[in-house]
Amino acid sequence: MTAESTAFWSGGERGELMIAFCDDCARAVHPPQLVCPGCLSRSVTPRAVAGTGTVYTYTVNHQPWLPDMQVPFAIAVVDVDGAPGVRVTAPVDCADPATVRIGQRVTIAFEPAGDVWLPLWRPLNGEAA
Ligand SMILES: [Zn+2]
Repeated sequence: MTAESTAFWSGGERGELMIAFCDDCARAVHPPQLVCPGCLSRSVTPRAVAGTGTVYTYTVNHQPWLPDMQVPFAIAVVDVDGAPGVRVTAPVDCADPATVRIGQRVTIAFEPAGDVWLPLWRPLNGEAA
């Protein structure tokens, strides 16, 4: 974790997806940075967003990269609601990765891993997977 990324990696403890926003031009700044790439303001503040989004794209992995890794699993790139232009890439926590689809609505969840809370996407109610 760095000063600018601490909010993102620790927000999961409260169940919050924290995205940095520029206080001057309102641009979402992700990955989080200390300086807004749009207007060069040094006033960038993390805020909790709704934690929902839409699958932009995804991949299903069948290769066990580690001895204990369970396959297959899906990783999705998700357009985050309330943070225009921000996409968060994370595994999809679902029973059948083959059911993940572009355009699917998802919600964030987190799992602790040492000092950080890793994001996961879960299909919203009514969606397959
Ligand atoms: Zn800005």
